[in-house]
Amino acid sequence: MERMTELVQKLNEYAYRYYTLDEPIVSDKEYDVLYDELVELEKSSGVVLPDSPTHRVGGELLKQFDSYTHKQRLYSLAKSQSTEELKSWWTRCTNSLNIDKMFCSVEFKYDGLTVNLSYKNGELVRATTRGNGVKGEVVTSGAKTIRTIPLTIPFKGEIEVQGECIMRLSELEKYNNTHDIPLKNARNAAAGALRNLDPKVTADRHLDFMAYSVGYSDINFDSQKDMVEFLVQNKFRIGDFVKYADNMTDIIALINEIESKRNSLDYLIDGAVVKINEQKYRTELGFTEKSPRWAIAYKYEAEEVTTILKDVIWQVSRTGKLNPLAVLEPVELCGATVSRATLNNLDDIAKKGVKIGSRVFVRRSNDVIPEILGVAEDNDGKTILPPDKCPSCGGDVKVDGAFVYCTNKDNCGAVHISRLDHFASREAMNIEGLSEKTILQLYNLGFLRDIDDLYDLTADQLFQAEGFKDKKVNNILNAIEQSKNTTLDNFIYSLGIANIGKKSAKQLADKFKSLENLQNATVEDLLNLDDFGEIMATGVYNYFKEPTSAKLIDNLLKKGVKIEFKEQKEGVLTGVNICLTGSISIPRGKAKQLIIDNGGSVSDSVSKNVNVVVYGTDAGSKLDKAKKLGVELWTEQDFFEKINYEG
Ligand code: NAD
Repeated sequence: MERMTELVQKLNEYAYRYYTLDEPIVSDKEYDVLYDELVELEKSSGVVLPDSPTHRVGGELLKQFDSYTHKQRLYSLAKSQSTEELKSWWTRCTNSLNIDKMFCSVEFKYDGLTVNLSYKNGELVRATTRGNGVKGEVVTSGAKTIRTIPLTIPFKGEIEVQGECIMRLSELEKYNNTHDIPLKNARNAAAGALRNLDPKVTADRHLDFMAYSVGYSDINFDSQKDMVEFLVQNKFRIGDFVKYADNMTDIIALINEIESKRNSLDYLIDGAVVKINEQKYRTELGFTEKSPRWAIAYKYEAEEVTTILKDVIWQVSRTGKLNPLAVLEPVELCGATVSRATLNNLDDIAKKGVKIGSRVFVRRSNDVIPEILGVAEDNDGKTILPPDKCPSCGGDVKVDGAFVYCTNKDNCGAVHISRLDHFASREAMNIEGLSEKTILQLYNLGFLRDIDDLYDLTADQLFQAEGFKDKKVNNILNAIEQSKNTTLDNFIYSLGIANIGKKSAKQLADKFKSLENLQNATVEDLLNLDDFGEIMATGVYNYFKEPTSAKLIDNLLKKGVKIEFKEQKEGVLTGVNICLTGSISIPRGKAKQLIIDNGGSVSDSVSKNVNVVVYGTDAGSKLDKAKKLGVELWTEQDFFEKINYEG
């Protein structure tokens, strides 16, 4: 009982912060764990405390808004987190309805703010938040600024349309780049925008509305399909994913399909919603106190958690910039233990207000390393300051705006090692077997310093490195030799010019077609490239004008590096980077050639730079990784159809 009281108090406090203030202090995952514990205790004891959140929807209303009693109550959803739980829901429903199959819709579960729109005589008369399900706050003037909320609709009867207000992630990014106080999370940003008395604030955040249901209406819909059709005809934007299935296997496949798309979406979804299609079955099953029995949410693994920021270390990059990296109290995120997160730069740290000792929100990002979104609890933390000296070479540091630099970069070991490592990496000169650890060993032995020293390495020198035997030495020397034949885009990328990633290197190669042309390019020429602004263009220009770069390039060419420019073929796969995995029915080499012949490019490993993974039978970890990253998946057949290949 004591624990129950404690849980109820805690959960109600968290719910108040989340629903009423739009300022959560714990992640959804942490809330859900406590909530599930309370549900278990209530089940085993048979006691439900009067203010238990398990019997209530949403949160208290803010006083500054008028309240409105929804004509039809807005419910929450029962949730499942495993296919077993989903199957038992299915069995419960089919048993109770005495049927074998039931047609269900499977939709995105948007992670935003639920809104109820009331229309009369074809006009939007009111927009309200879900509030506590019975009463909501009137937010009409803010809602009217949302372009996807129609102000008039063809239907002239009285109707309430339910949906979710969301803020797109691209909008969140744009907002955070142009405002001093960043928004931590798209969900709270959407909720905070709409529950604001100033409609300009709502308008400034460019929200969207995804309609998913008709609540009150004077028409009787026979099914979800009819309802969705009605919403489309009345100019609503329905969810981007509404598919149907009539058995568990297909429903699970659709849920997996949604999960594989999750990371590539421009908005947050936290699961999938399965709803029985037929109205007659819905009526028969009815509602619990909190949710409909005819629908269930399937929640995916949390992509956001909170943890303590223990320390910040400054990592030296290949350009001499010191990047702050947060050391975290290890925490589970998306099935992996996370102990590091990016903090970008000094401005980012100041904007987010994070300190050493603070409890911070951490979100999985498309990069390998997660991102810190902001502070959950300050905990009297210690301000994060730039280091006095470079942590690698002990040289002086210079703070320039938001960035910190080692002023001794030409003699800084970490800069050299990082440059060499970048040069040898797979997407650059692709020197297989030359890991960062090997580079460090050879550097410490005094055999490597500048990039071009790689091409002077001898077998005798390699044998001096620990653990190097004949085979390893031969492999590395061969890989170094092979790397001498490279393409223009790979070469440009390998130089490690600041802000020039794989994509910009390719743009430079395609535009200038030879190293010489690129070396002679003016800032104006460079500014003509898509996405090249002042910083990138002058960065490239200055790089090629620096005597040290000219000398380095000259040395590389003298030591036998040959650069070829391959005109990219145009085709249906232009701009598509593909990774192949598993066994497919044609030889790998042929499949790769087909990709190139159709304008695409091939990647040997799965990363966020890969657009599509083509998988055959027995596909293993690459397919798993692709699913995790939300990369589009094609079967061999999809691939052949795309390129019109008939074997
Ligand atoms: P829910 O996550 O249980 O889901 C129900 C809601 O999903 C509906 O009200 C609707 O708004 C929405 N939805 C999105 N797409 C939909 C679709 N296609 N069809 C139908 N509905 C759709 O929502 P809830 O009841 O608002 O909140 C419970 C959850 O909120 C908890 O599980 C927790 O994760 C989170 N929460 C977090 C905190 C915190 O402090 N972090 C506090 C309270 C609640």
